[in-house]
Amino acid sequence: MSSLLQAIDRLATSPAARTITRAWQGMSNLLIPNPCVLCAWDDAVQYQLCARCTALLKEQHAQVVQAQDFADSLPLNTVTGMALPVFASSFYTPEMSKLLLRFKDHQRVNAAGFLRPIVYRTLQHAADTLGYPYYRLVPIPASGASMRKRGYNPVTAMLPRPVPPTMLYDAGTLKTRWQLYNRSSHAGTGVQSRRDSSRKKFRVALRHNPAAEPVILVDDVLTTGATLAAATRTLESAGFDVVAAVVVATVVPRN
Ligand SMILES: [Zn+2]
Repeated sequence: MSSLLQAIDRLATSPAARTITRAWQGMSNLLIPNPCVLCAWDDAVQYQLCARCTALLKEQHAQVVQAQDFADSLPLNTVTGMALPVFASSFYTPEMSKLLLRFKDHQRVNAAGFLRPIVYRTLQHAADTLGYPYYRLVPIPASGASMRKRGYNPVTAMLPRPVPPTMLYDAGTLKTRWQLYNRSSHAGTGVQSRRDSSRKKFRVALRHNPAAEPVILVDDVLTTGATLAAATRTLESAGFDVVAAVVVATVVPRN
């Protein structure tokens, strides 16, 4: 009996067996492809990213960026005239743009797992910098059309759970308006009509209590700041105090 076991053991550890194991691993990689969402070259090791791309992205996220100077349409504080402070986890690099695009439009939703600890760190940095004891964390809602297309809101999918301990997560207060309202605003393309359309973009849920906690908005990418401005106007007209925004990536203007 023991000689039979020894024989099996010899067989299993023989060079031939190792070759078969390697061949099988190679074969199963072909059968169940798991390419990195960024380079599509190496196999993903975690969160649909390969080791090399993970290292590259981590380098790009090494420091939180103060992004309010990069966008011209951010809401201004009525007292100080200063733009709303925006904390960005990274710049909108080609790699970040690709990652967010895959994540948003190609159903590679697991890639959000890579972003969550990064967003957590940025939220914590914002909380420490602003210095309030508590915050209300309000994600920018997805439009009805985008929810129907994707089945999830990419912004809430990127948020860590739980959120930092000084923050109250509130995805129920800020809502997008019905499609009908948005469609009518495409009638004109002038500045005034665009301003009207951004004003009509959001609404506040009916059964809300204006909160004591200052609000931090969360969005994926900062470009002009018009979305954050529309959300701020809607919330502030309902009695909320918006003090900052956190975004995953910020676009840098060319000049
Ligand atoms: Zn890769």
